[in-house]
Amino acid sequence: MMMRSVLTATLAAAVVIAGTVPAEGVGRTAKPKVVVIGTGGTIAGAAESRVSFESYRPGRLPVADLVKDLQPEVGEIADVSVRDFGGKGSTDYTLADYHDLSRLVDRQLAAADAVVVATGTQTMEELAYWLDLTVRSPKPVVLTGAMRPWTAIGSDGPPNLYNAIRVAAGRRTRCFGAVVTLNGEIFAAREVTKTSTQRPDTFAAPETGRLGSIGDQGVTLLSTPARTCVKTPFDLSKISRDKLPRTEIVYTYAQAGGEPVKAFADAGVKGLVFAGTPSPGQFEQAQAAAKKGMVLVAANRNTSGAVHPDMPGVIAAQDLHPQKARLLLTLSLAAARDPRQVAELFAEYGTPQAPGDRS
Ligand code: ASP
Repeated sequence: MMMRSVLTATLAAAVVIAGTVPAEGVGRTAKPKVVVIGTGGTIAGAAESRVSFESYRPGRLPVADLVKDLQPEVGEIADVSVRDFGGKGSTDYTLADYHDLSRLVDRQLAAADAVVVATGTQTMEELAYWLDLTVRSPKPVVLTGAMRPWTAIGSDGPPNLYNAIRVAAGRRTRCFGAVVTLNGEIFAAREVTKTSTQRPDTFAAPETGRLGSIGDQGVTLLSTPARTCVKTPFDLSKISRDKLPRTEIVYTYAQAGGEPVKAFADAGVKGLVFAGTPSPGQFEQAQAAAKKGMVLVAANRNTSGAVHPDMPGVIAAQDLHPQKARLLLTLSLAAARDPRQVAELFAEYGTPQAPGDRS
């Protein structure tokens, strides 16, 4: 598997750059059409040695090679085609790139039944949540990655990609928004977070648990996300990729100074998320910045539970983690008329409620 990937990388890259190509050995019957979009990350990583589990270069292998390594098995469950979006580590992508990726996913879903995005794990939860908020199609969007490079002995890349294609091909997560699957588990984009920098069982949803699991018997779905079939107001065809408002995160801790808040305000940042409840020094600077138009959000810096800071003008992100609250803030600032509307968008889309009987 490893040698074939590395040796065919150059040839495959030349083919993939030309656009969507059918994966080898895939049938022309009525199997579900799944497009696998590669962005790089560890799953596409390669190392000199097969026992380099943590030292490797991410994003070296074209996604076509990864899919080819899974033939013929993957061709038995789906009609797979591939697109290379990029070959970088996940933290190298910008929100303008995220905007492009969402549009690409929607374009692919116009013809395909489902999309898989193979990407880096470090910011996977951010990309998943961005896609959750912005993709217009209700068809399944499944993200996956790996904690060990594709070339390592016992890499989790091949089973993770195979399982992601299985989840996508099954189409049972239609209307779930984006889901993340690694290590045989399926998680909702809003809930999932990376917990370990090293272990393959890194992803968890501390507040709600997993949506389901994948085993030899197939996909077992145990619950649905609260946001089922939601179409958000964040229509990227109406939001310019080059004019996304700048937003930042400031971490909170005992006696945190307010200088970074002032520096961000002076740099033209339009929205600020506090990871935790701001210290007095941070809050003082934040109030001054808010008078000049900066919108403030407080999010949970801990693993689970919600924040409700009793601070005038600070929007509570509930249990949304800071890195996701920042994405919602970016999109809300782009779509809203004023801070009050940003707060309304947070209430409605930041913490969607399950459709229970509220009488
Ligand atoms: N540094 C890697 C990234 O692109 C880690 C990974 O892919 O798992 O996020």
